Amino acid sequence: MSDTIKDKFIVFGAPEILEDEVQEVTDSMRSGWLGTGPKVARFEEAFSKYKGYTKGQAAAVNSCTAALQLSLIAAGIGPGDEVITTSLTFCATVNAIIHAGATPVIVDVDPGSMNIDVERVKEAITDNTRAILPVHFAGRACDMNGLLELVNAYGLTLIEDCAHAIETEYKGKKAGTLGDFGCFSFYVTKNVVTGEGGMVLARSKEDIDRVKVLSLHGMSKDAWNRFGDSGYKHYLVHEAGYKFNMMDIQASIGIHQLKRVDRSWRRRQEIWNRYQQAFKDLDITCPMDVGPDERHGYHLYTVLIDEEKAGIQRDEFLDRMTDKGIGVGVHYLSIAEHPYYQKTFGWRPEDFPNAQRIGRQTVSLPLSPKLSDEDVERVISSVIEILKG
Ligand SMILES: *Cc1c(COP(=O)(O)O)cnc(C)c1O
Repeated sequence: MSDTIKDKFIVFGAPEILEDEVQEVTDSMRSGWLGTGPKVARFEEAFSKYKGYTKGQAAAVNSCTAALQLSLIAAGIGPGDEVITTSLTFCATVNAIIHAGATPVIVDVDPGSMNIDVERVKEAITDNTRAILPVHFAGRACDMNGLLELVNAYGLTLIEDCAHAIETEYKGKKAGTLGDFGCFSFYVTKNVVTGEGGMVLARSKEDIDRVKVLSLHGMSKDAWNRFGDSGYKHYLVHEAGYKFNMMDIQASIGIHQLKRVDRSWRRRQEIWNRYQQAFKDLDITCPMDVGPDERHGYHLYTVLIDEEKAGIQRDEFLDRMTDKGIGVGVHYLSIAEHPYYQKTFGWRPEDFPNAQRIGRQTVSLPLSPKLSDEDVERVISSVIEILKG
């Protein structure tokens, strides 16, 4: 790679950090209050409001992985229980189920939406099934009516992995508020970032109270007052909890990121649509168009490179993009490709053929509000050059 290209390397998923965040973090640093405090409370309040919930329905934590694990535990799910999830997701979705002590059951995805296939979910339900854990892949909402029907018919808990779905809506309802729990990520590549960070939303305030206790060593809720200046208070430990709380430094970033969420979303939508139009005549598979009554979160823009049609292997395409100074991603190799799950659960990629094929063909292109029009055109011309060259 030449030095000029290196200088202009488009980093995949680079967050847009502006002066407001910098100032707010500095303010926390100067105040000396780095840990969980008033800014975490402000961020929880702002996030619940954005989602149409009240403050008592949100708990900020240090990752979406933690959010998923605590939601499962708060739902009373543990050893002997089965949780059905998708075979096309980040490993954290499955690991959270394992760490809650439950047994993950994966099912194949719909090839068009790339979301969990409701028919497959139905076939996978057993007497031990306790929950369904769908992922709104790339920001496109799952078939929530289909899933809710199963949840109601079988008395299951619904936990939405909304790591891609901060802005997503399903038939006018906000992702993360359709299920019993919604889990969000503010990891550096996500649509709202805090560096590391996550949020649990729950329909029931009791569930959020439990999540809060679990996220801070299992100490009684009053322990949170420890972070105030109202004098010493004793705390009591009610269960063996975790250390999953969010810091004020993280919330400082999130508060300002969230204020810009709709503006950033419009820019993402613009870039997503530009790609969609620019690639429509190429021998690759573009994402399904977004319907007029859908609100996509535009977290990822992914194309499928089928070697037979495109004349180039997916991995070769990734290398060629990198050589051109463009960061790309793979979301994801299907879960059953990983040795740990093969060894532990006997899963084989070919048993989940849609997820397997997508995982072997998919490429994520840069999609960030930070990209200039010039960057976007560079991504487009690079893709076209590689495929036509
Ligand atoms: C990023 C991601 C997670 C994990 O988020 P963290 O905040 O990094 O723990 C979980 N599920 C999906 C689908 C993700 O993309």
